[in-house]
Amino acid sequence: MTKIIVVGGGAGGLELATKLGRKLGRKQKAEITLVDKNRTHLWKPLLHEVAAGSLDDGVDALSYRAHAKNHGFFFQLGCLSNINRDDKTITLSAMLDEEGNEILSQRKLSYDYLVMALGSVSNDFRTPGVKDNCIFLDSPEQAHKFHHKMLNKFLQLGEKQTQKVNVAIVGAGATGVELSAELYNSLKQVKSYGFDDISSSDLNVTLVEAGEKILPALPVRISSAAHHELSQLGVDVRTATMVTEATEAGLMTKSGELIEADLMVWAAGIKAPDFLADIAGLETNRANQLVVERTLQTSRDGNIYAIGDCAACTLEDGKQVPPRAQSAHQMASCAYDNIIARINGKPQKDYQYKDHGSLVSLSQFSTVGSLMGNLMKGSMMVEGRMARFVYVSLYRMHQIALHGYVKTALMTMVGRINRVLRPRLKLH
Ligand SMILES: Cc1cc2nc3c(=O)[nH]c(=O)nc-3n(C[C@H](O)[C@H](O)[C@H](O)COP(=O)(O)OP(=O)(O)OC[C@H]3O[C@@H](n4cnc5c(N)ncnc54)[C@H](O)[C@@H]3O)c2cc1C
Repeated sequence: MTKIIVVGGGAGGLELATKLGRKLGRKQKAEITLVDKNRTHLWKPLLHEVAAGSLDDGVDALSYRAHAKNHGFFFQLGCLSNINRDDKTITLSAMLDEEGNEILSQRKLSYDYLVMALGSVSNDFRTPGVKDNCIFLDSPEQAHKFHHKMLNKFLQLGEKQTQKVNVAIVGAGATGVELSAELYNSLKQVKSYGFDDISSSDLNVTLVEAGEKILPALPVRISSAAHHELSQLGVDVRTATMVTEATEAGLMTKSGELIEADLMVWAAGIKAPDFLADIAGLETNRANQLVVERTLQTSRDGNIYAIGDCAACTLEDGKQVPPRAQSAHQMASCAYDNIIARINGKPQKDYQYKDHGSLVSLSQFSTVGSLMGNLMKGSMMVEGRMARFVYVSLYRMHQIALHGYVKTALMTMVGRINRVLRPRLKLH
């Protein structure tokens, strides 16, 4: 039986494994295995909400094992460490528990088709002190770490052991902008849980961006609108400010200024995981991404595909597909079609990137962004309720791809009920 392995159960990989499992796995036409280093999946664009405490990932996370069982594929818990293209195997490194005891030994799995969907990690561009002093928002664990530290700081504020909480965020892309706004929402919620004398002036968020404007990938009018909203909330937005070092006291800038901070988040760029650089002789770019043809097959091995943030796909106009959830979603559909076509001996198709626009959520305060459509030439700026609706729809589309319409509707209802039953802010 044809063996298909998808490594990485994120925005792209989990959708792909689910579709392949439903189409081929259930009918035993192929054996589909999803590999992930974690036991549960949380859609990555929700991580800033986990960090700020407005989302309890214990409620939203999905168990890979249970999902695999229900959708006709197998799940292997493990961390990919190598690929052997000669004997078509991948190696998963040994898994250790918290005490360092081995729970699973090193394993090899064989494949006919391999799909790499490992996502990306933050890129600190080797800036001194960043690894030791900044938190990255790459995983739920890191988001929890930030959340706990922030709660402790709020506690100290409430007990008047500290005067202000200073948070500095490097990188004003969607992650940095959304986190800045979400922190003010958290502070507002904290007030309603017993810390009555805390005010928004007790939180000091500085958003630092090396470029001339925030949200560099978006049109000027959207970044200006977001900039205005953040300033209204109280965020100190510093554009054209290059961070040269992170120290225990804060961020050093190129002009020699120290931006003091108790908590620092680095969200200034992404790269694929370092171990991918030249893995198994596959072609990679400077950001360690696997170079793929338009069919999403890696340039040096047609049996290995790459999708999502870890893939470097160049479009007809020479532009790179951006590392976004919508790209990962679309690439999962294209890889699915192409793998099915390969199995049926039919020709594969080229991936077409459809930019549906970008939306940035400023927590419950506002949502701004642009939508692209066939009816409008170029993009249309949207704001307010309409933008919020479309922003939430992106996540709903992911849920529908995984669970179908009925279960997604039920999950939406449970979410609404939980908003009444559970605290608005995760307090532990
Ligand atoms: C805070 C935040 C907000 C964002 N907001 C938006 C947004 O509003 N809109 C948008 O379009 N995009 C947004 N993004 C970007 C978006 O999350 C990514 O582009 C998208 O998740 C990429 O999907 P992926 O499938 O490539 O990787 P991911 O979703 O990152 O999944 C990768 C998976 O691979 C697994 N993995 C990694 N290494 C290994 C290994 N060695 N072995 C086994 N498994 C491994 C991981 O555990 C993970 O499950 C945001 C990102 C962040 C961090």
